[in-house]
Amino acid sequence: MLGLMQDRPLLISQIIDFAAEYYGDVEIVSRAVEGPVHRYTYRDAHHRAKKLAEALQSLGIKLGDRVGTVAWNGYRHFELYYAVSGIGAVLHTLNPRLSPEHVAYIANHAEDQVIFVDLNLVPVVEAVIGQLKTVRHVIVMTDRAHMPKDSKIANLLCYEELIADKPGTLAWPTFDERTASSLCYTSGTTGNPKGVLYSHRSTVLHSIMMTSGPVLALNPDNTILPVVPMFHANAWGLVYGAPMSGCKLVFPGFRLDGASVYELLDSEDVDVSAGVPTVWLALLNYCEQNGKKLSKMKRTLIGGSAVPHAMISRFWKEHGTDVVHGWGMTEMSPVGTITRFNRGERALPDEQRFEIQAKQGRPVFGVEMKIVDDAGNDLPKDGKASGNLLVRGPWIVNGYMKGEGTAGFTKDGWFHTGDVSKLEPDGSMVITDRSKDVIKSGGEWISTIDLENAAMGHPAVAEAAVIGIQHPKWDERPLLIVQLKAGANAGKQDILDFVKDRVAKWWLPDDVAFVDAIPHGATGKVLKTELRRTFKDYTLPTA
Ligand code: ADP
Repeated sequence: MLGLMQDRPLLISQIIDFAAEYYGDVEIVSRAVEGPVHRYTYRDAHHRAKKLAEALQSLGIKLGDRVGTVAWNGYRHFELYYAVSGIGAVLHTLNPRLSPEHVAYIANHAEDQVIFVDLNLVPVVEAVIGQLKTVRHVIVMTDRAHMPKDSKIANLLCYEELIADKPGTLAWPTFDERTASSLCYTSGTTGNPKGVLYSHRSTVLHSIMMTSGPVLALNPDNTILPVVPMFHANAWGLVYGAPMSGCKLVFPGFRLDGASVYELLDSEDVDVSAGVPTVWLALLNYCEQNGKKLSKMKRTLIGGSAVPHAMISRFWKEHGTDVVHGWGMTEMSPVGTITRFNRGERALPDEQRFEIQAKQGRPVFGVEMKIVDDAGNDLPKDGKASGNLLVRGPWIVNGYMKGEGTAGFTKDGWFHTGDVSKLEPDGSMVITDRSKDVIKSGGEWISTIDLENAAMGHPAVAEAAVIGIQHPKWDERPLLIVQLKAGANAGKQDILDFVKDRVAKWWLPDDVAFVDAIPHGATGKVLKTELRRTFKDYTLPTA
């Protein structure tokens, strides 16, 4: 017989065991929903996660059962991550910013048995409690003193009481690494949300990838603050990657405005962070208006939407912070590409480096990608051809919960991302559009992302979005929708003149509309569906 390696399963419980044993004194700091800043260590979190696992078992939760959470980034949510998956149940993180219809739909579809809810999110559950078909208990993530006095929900349980008398001595069970560990629904901007089930194996592999040198290069000297919520694709894997690497973890709770995030980044010496562009925009503007500097934050992972060139430049020039631009999807655990400098590129002049960082990045090890035309034929990776982006890899969805959305999968194992992109000879991937946002003008595609990026470089523009408007001759032409920075002034011609120098001539938007606020969805992305509704009767000026 040939020799071979041991076939030990990759399990999430191993991560918290490892952190408790080898990084036991490393801190987890949380801005608690109840108010004060809470501190403890991986050793404490490990013990409490085991107590919670015992409590879950006493509530009858067993292998495969779904446990819902409606919670911000905080230490009790962290404990749930490990306790639920640790006993082989499935952690279902619900996005509290979704509409009540979607929250109810998702909890019922997932067949959540119990729901854990943060104190200030109890109303989210109250709003739908009458519609929940499978939920047996609702547990408020707080102590007895803070429990809501009169709630619409009968028999609310208290988290701290639930775990108080548990010994915390449980030995994590061992099971197949392909067992489901957590569940996250896509945001459902079109149709009903679809469930993506992660496995222990996919989660551990994705987390190792995230910590690796070419990605985030995490080590025990790092302090990480994930602004990206724990209900948004497992906080992009950081809630697993940080304990694996012995990093100090800082959880911001529910206050995500510029001032609150700045204060935590500064007081806790955070050097690595992660979040969507809208959060960082608020932080950059706060710093600008208040003369603050992010002197310690060395890197921030930004994704979920395209990172404007202007943001990359501001982070570097104003704060010395390197932007790691990432692209991914809930369906990809979520990370598929990140800014990775090839040998020698880090030493390039600022502007050339920013060009590389403004692309969506290069694939991480483990993710393969290709582009195809509408008939499914492979297109060249020449940086010119643009097509439908397909991916495959060990942490990419193989099918949605309960067999929905089969059209997204090819017979030979690729997943349709729904993004339209170019693949460049140097390995970079550049998204031109979400396929449903594409503008087709005179038979050619116009990239809304490029136009938005160009407009957001204008000093008076806070945020910009581009949508297609029907046009009698060209089918569609771009309309640029702009939200100006507070107190700033700029007119249509001024902005168009600025954009003109940065994009192909025939891409130039036919008009500019100014709005007070650009609408955002539950995960911080610009809600183009809503903009299309608002501007559905808009007529472009005739030249
Ligand atoms: P949802 O918000 O629908 O749950 P995800 O958070 O999974 O979905 O979003 C995935 C989509 O977000 C991608 O398919 C892509 O269109 C967009 N996206 C994510 N990161 C980037 C990026 N860096 N640049 C451009 N688009 C991005």
